[in-house]
Amino acid sequence: MGDFEEKIGLELESIRGSGLWRELRCIESVQGSQIYHNGKKLINFSSNDYLGLAGHHTLTEAAKHAIDRFGVGSGASRLVCGSLEVHHELEEALARWLKAEAALVFSSGFAAAQGVISSIVGSEDVVVIDKKVHASTVDAVKLSGAKLRVFKHNDLSSLEKILKWADKRNSRVLTIAESVYSMDGDSPVIEDLVDLKERYGSWLMLDEAHALGCYGESGGGLALKSNLSEKIEIRLGTLGKSIGVAGGFICGSKKLVDLLVNKARSFIFSTAPSPIASAAALAGVKLVQSEEGDARRDKLWKCVSQFQKGVSSQGWPVAPASSVILPLILSEESNAMLAANLLRDCGFYIPAIRYPTVPRNESRLRITLSANHSQDEIAALLKAFSDLIVEVNL
Ligand SMILES: *Cc1c(COP(=O)(O)O)cnc(C)c1O
Repeated sequence: MGDFEEKIGLELESIRGSGLWRELRCIESVQGSQIYHNGKKLINFSSNDYLGLAGHHTLTEAAKHAIDRFGVGSGASRLVCGSLEVHHELEEALARWLKAEAALVFSSGFAAAQGVISSIVGSEDVVVIDKKVHASTVDAVKLSGAKLRVFKHNDLSSLEKILKWADKRNSRVLTIAESVYSMDGDSPVIEDLVDLKERYGSWLMLDEAHALGCYGESGGGLALKSNLSEKIEIRLGTLGKSIGVAGGFICGSKKLVDLLVNKARSFIFSTAPSPIASAAALAGVKLVQSEEGDARRDKLWKCVSQFQKGVSSQGWPVAPASSVILPLILSEESNAMLAANLLRDCGFYIPAIRYPTVPRNESRLRITLSANHSQDEIAALLKAFSDLIVEVNL
């Protein structure tokens, strides 16, 4: 095996040495506000299952019916013989929900980003991204070969400077932003973003991974909430967060979806999603728009306000923006690890988020709330935070 093990071993030592070691923790229960790890019950404040659908009986029943009807596997890629009725139903439901002409489902949001970006831009083109967009976007732009330019986080004057420069080139210009940023929970002003991209003739892709389900009427996200969905060429969503299952999708015009079916390599050369996942996601998409969906959103936002009020009254530096994602920045990696370990000892599951997921010295606890949390669970967390604040250096 030559030097393989030795070289990898050295790299692992260096990761460990810089305090950035990552390891998997096995969860022994269904996803919910309480999970089991090493036989111990922990209250979970780390999931992206914001509406608490991952273990919801309506979704699990839909999955069971799908097994009876379609089996467990899709057999091939969509273009070969794997394009099952349930995939088409899911795509129609997504398009209706998000008021788009069409939608296309991928095996993950990551794959959707790869597929769409490399289908619509190439080495002649320019892609302008917010500094904090998700890794899936960054990697996809690199894969496309397009020129990558980065604007300061949520800073539209920084974006405008780049668009002015790009405007003089005779090529496609694509701007990419998120409607809710995954590690900070903040948002751009969608109206201003759309105004800029229209003025400079850029196309816009909006990643709504963390907004769908939580924001806007029927949980349709921030593009719909601001009534600007028709001006946004591409919207990306995932089925693994508020929808509670797994998978990703793109929605937009019929022509965009036709192009993806013909060009997106992560769609064409990949086995179609399991009918179990797609059927459960279809049930999730319907539930999100139902009265129960509204009730779950109300509950979620009540949890957000209870936690935010409590934690800011204790003196923690909390972001002013109200969001289902609440980061508490603890700067140094070791500080964030200490906090996460102390919290786990007293029964809370909140992993520390470190470099390279966030910049160096911006390590944090990323607390996410869910409609499944009870007031008592949040009160217990607030009590733990009031003890924790004396243990960590703010
Ligand atoms: C999670 C996430 C994705 C990827 O979605 P998956 O379905 O988990 O692959 C894309 N963009 C953002 C902003 C995300 O948070």
